[in-house]
Amino acid sequence: MMKKSHLVIGILGTLALQPGANLTNMLILTAGAAVGSTVPDWDLILHIPHRGITHWLIWPAVVLLAGHAYPFLIGLALGWILHIAADALTVEGLRPFWPLTWRVRGFLTTGGLMEYFFVIGAMGSLIYYFMKP
Ligand SMILES: [Zn+2]
Repeated sequence: MMKKSHLVIGILGTLALQPGANLTNMLILTAGAAVGSTVPDWDLILHIPHRGITHWLIWPAVVLLAGHAYPFLIGLALGWILHIAADALTVEGLRPFWPLTWRVRGFLTTGGLMEYFFVIGAMGSLIYYFMKP
C-alpha cells in the first residue's frame, strides 16, 4: 500500500481502538500510530529487501511487550501491526509470521483504484462508527 494509505489506516484504526480514552492518551497513542504506520517501509530507506524483516509481526510484538506502559510505544506497535495487516491485503503480500514462511496475500494492487476504494471505505466506516448515536 501507499504511505498515505498506511497513515490513514494507522491513525483511524488506532482511534477506533480507543473509544473513551482521555484526550492526552488518545493524542499520544495516535501520534505513535502515525509513526508506527510508516516504520515497516523504512526498509526502502535502509536498502534492505522490501517487505522482509521489517514486516515481521514479531517486532511490533516486542515493542508492545517492552513499551506497554507508554502510550506512544503502544500506538507505535498498533500502527506497525496495522501497516503489516494492510500490506497483507495486497497481491504482493508478505511473510509476517517469521520464522514461518507462509506468504499472506490479498486482492489489492498497491496504488490501484481498489486501494483508494478500500481506504475510502475504511474511512467511511470509521466515521460512521464514531458518529452513530
Ligand atoms: Zn509495507
